[in-house]
Amino acid sequence: MANIEDTKIVNKNLTRRTLLKSIAVALPASAVILQQDTMADDLPKLDPSDPTAMALVYVEDPADLDKSNPAAARYQAGQTCANCIQIQGDSGDYRPYGIFPGKTVAAAGWCSVWAPMT
Ligand code: SF4
Repeated sequence: MANIEDTKIVNKNLTRRTLLKSIAVALPASAVILQQDTMADDLPKLDPSDPTAMALVYVEDPADLDKSNPAAARYQAGQTCANCIQIQGDSGDYRPYGIFPGKTVAAAGWCSVWAPMT
């Protein structure tokens, strides 16, 4: 039969084991996040004059939208790349996203295919 001191040791070991398991899970996840942020810093910015970017009416600042373009009429205040479903990452002025792999877009930017995050 275990005495109180043995029980404390067992519980201490379980706690340490649980902590180590948590760290083992957390470290790879944080490494992925750090890697994603580092990659975003290394990626080139999407040039608004890129033909596809122009077709999507992409701008780094919605104030620069060409109001004569019918696609620009879709813009509503508050819509930005930062709250678009296509953006990847939670921080940074420029972030990777799905439509142009290998490029970043301005978090404050916008294009005509903006869709809200769900
Ligand atoms: S799809 Fe979304 S994230 Fe990409 S440029 Fe358009 S608004 Fe920005």
